[in-house]
Amino acid sequence: MLRVAVLAVLLSPALVAAALARGLTPAPETAAPPAATDRVPTTTESAQAAPPAPLPPPALSPPPAPPAAPEPTWPPVRWRESRSLGLPHAGRLVGGVRLPREGEHFLTWDPVLKTSPSRPWRRWGTDRLVRVVLRVAREHRSEHPEAPRLTIGDLSRPRGGDFGKRFGILGHVSHQNGLDVDVYYPRKDRREKAPRRPGQVDGRLAQDLVDRFVAAGAVKLFVGPSLDLRGPRGIVEKLVHHDDHLHVRLRPLRR
Ligand SMILES: [Zn+2]
Repeated sequence: MLRVAVLAVLLSPALVAAALARGLTPAPETAAPPAATDRVPTTTESAQAAPPAPLPPPALSPPPAPPAAPEPTWPPVRWRESRSLGLPHAGRLVGGVRLPREGEHFLTWDPVLKTSPSRPWRRWGTDRLVRVVLRVAREHRSEHPEAPRLTIGDLSRPRGGDFGKRFGILGHVSHQNGLDVDVYYPRKDRREKAPRRPGQVDGRLAQDLVDRFVAAGAVKLFVGPSLDLRGPRGIVEKLVHHDDHLHVRLRPLRR
């Protein structure tokens, strides 16, 4: 009789429920360790005082692998054909493309709010400029896997035009026709934000970016006077207020 009682406790609904809650099917009677059922209780021991049964042995098959972390999904680019009109300091942008707030190889940085991402109206350019930015970012990190994502600042406003002081801090004289973009120098500490001092700039990675934008057909690059960045004369120029970012200008397409 006692043996039946112990067995009844072993298979009590609470234990079955506990087993189910753990995602396991209750072990068949024969799978229970013999020691538990063969145990002879002492006379002072009631059925209620029987120790809890050992848990069923683990399944023989290995547990399923945890699901792989989902690939991050980046906001897409809505491509369309763009036209750059006028000049960098007196122009506008037609059919502009907005650089997404971030991607696998870049993020955007708002120079006024000093935060990422930058506001959507600050990141419009021609489709060609956006393609160049994405390609340089991808190739730079492919060559330098240790490099942080590229920190991209202002491009142009949605339809180009004035991007002066009323849009924050110094504003821009140029950045009006969708062909200009500011790119912050990679930081030595790899943090994804604008450097605050020239000493924080990774000169080797910064020079790599200068070289890539020159190779991509930039007609003008402004770089910081405090940094030792070099490039073809007439294209790469030192200019005040460019110790934290380089300014890239693409050549307008001839029509
Ligand atoms: Zn600029």
